[in-house]
Amino acid sequence: MNNNGEIYDLVILGGGPAGLSAGLYAMRAVLSTILVERATPGGQVAITKDVENYPGLDEITGLDLSDKLLQHAQSYGLEVIQDEAVSIDPGPDLHSVILGSGKILKAHAVIIATGGAPRKLGVPGESEFIGRGVSYCAKCDGFFFQDRVVTVVGGGDTAIEEALYLSKLASKVYLVHRRSGFRASKILQKRIHESSVELVLNSAVTQIYANEDGVHSIVVNELLTGEQRTIETEGVFIFVGLMPNNRIVPAGIILDSAGYAVTDEKCATRIPGIYIAGDLKTKFAKQIVVAAAEGCTAALAAADYIDQKKNIMGIFDTRSRVIKPQSVSPEDLRTGPQASITGDPTH
Ligand SMILES: Cc1cc2nc3c(=O)[nH]c(=O)nc-3n(C[C@H](O)[C@H](O)[C@H](O)COP(=O)(O)OP(=O)(O)OC[C@H]3O[C@@H](n4cnc5c(N)ncnc54)[C@H](O)[C@@H]3O)c2cc1C
Repeated sequence: MNNNGEIYDLVILGGGPAGLSAGLYAMRAVLSTILVERATPGGQVAITKDVENYPGLDEITGLDLSDKLLQHAQSYGLEVIQDEAVSIDPGPDLHSVILGSGKILKAHAVIIATGGAPRKLGVPGESEFIGRGVSYCAKCDGFFFQDRVVTVVGGGDTAIEEALYLSKLASKVYLVHRRSGFRASKILQKRIHESSVELVLNSAVTQIYANEDGVHSIVVNELLTGEQRTIETEGVFIFVGLMPNNRIVPAGIILDSAGYAVTDEKCATRIPGIYIAGDLKTKFAKQIVVAAAEGCTAALAAADYIDQKKNIMGIFDTRSRVIKPQSVSPEDLRTGPQASITGDPTH
């Protein structure tokens, strides 16, 4: 409920590109909406130095893009609060979101856009030098390392794909992997062995060093012999996995083997009124433009769902959409008439 004790149409969890885009579209669809962000609005974009592949923006810093996404959604009146969603209690009628502050938000629909976080190596220098040589995204940051020496860390598909990608830009690529064999697919293994990438196997990065110009070297521990080796490198690209922020995803929603949520093309889950958008959702390309597009899809789908629900309840209010709760079953929503939306929320 909001401060007036009213029930929200929509609660959005996560203020990255998916959540903020969902907020923008929800406000334009005249849904009473609140967005909950536990840290800095912008999500992973806020820790990105420069973004050069968001269509329409030649070049923008991650912080500026984060600000623009937030301001755009807020210009339509989106309410944004800093708090952490700790659980979601799906109801047959209303869903409840329990926040770290103890507050409980009740809403007809919830969009979970809590994204993911790159798995860290946890070595000295890593966190300190993000954006100054340490990166978790070769397609985003590789351009800055043209004709320079870089090191990729990891042994899965992503690590190998990104090492191959970087080998077309960088003057030299090292690939450091803890084991003698790769987890990656056979075809990628074949390609990496045929490439110019120098493999540093059975080895683990133990330290990343930088000066005022950024990263200049790493220390690698040879795991079989215990020998230490210093590699001169200006970029360290770490691909040891992304961790989906799926802790609050309610039981009953399907997760794939890596923990990403499975939805239909409307970002709808198996629980009516609960949608998932952005990096938390299983997908091919984890990029800002994709997350924003899914935020849009989820918000429009939620608006459609809420309209149908209110039409079935017979209390559709085109001005505020804030209604008094009445009971409606998920079955009603599946079989009920198609709602007519007043105005086109996409325009
Ligand atoms: C270093 C780096 C550079 C990148 N560069 C680019 C690039 O140049 N171009 C590009 O297209 N993509 C880039 N990406 C990928 C891109 O940032 C992501 O695909 C995109 O941010 C995903 O958006 P999202 O909204 O789904 O999730 P996120 O950006 O992960 O946002 C999720 C938000 O949810 C919040 N949250 C999590 N749990 C909770 C909770 N329980 N309660 C409340 N809030 C919560 C988080 O704090 C976060 O703000 C980069 C990624 C990284 C890590």
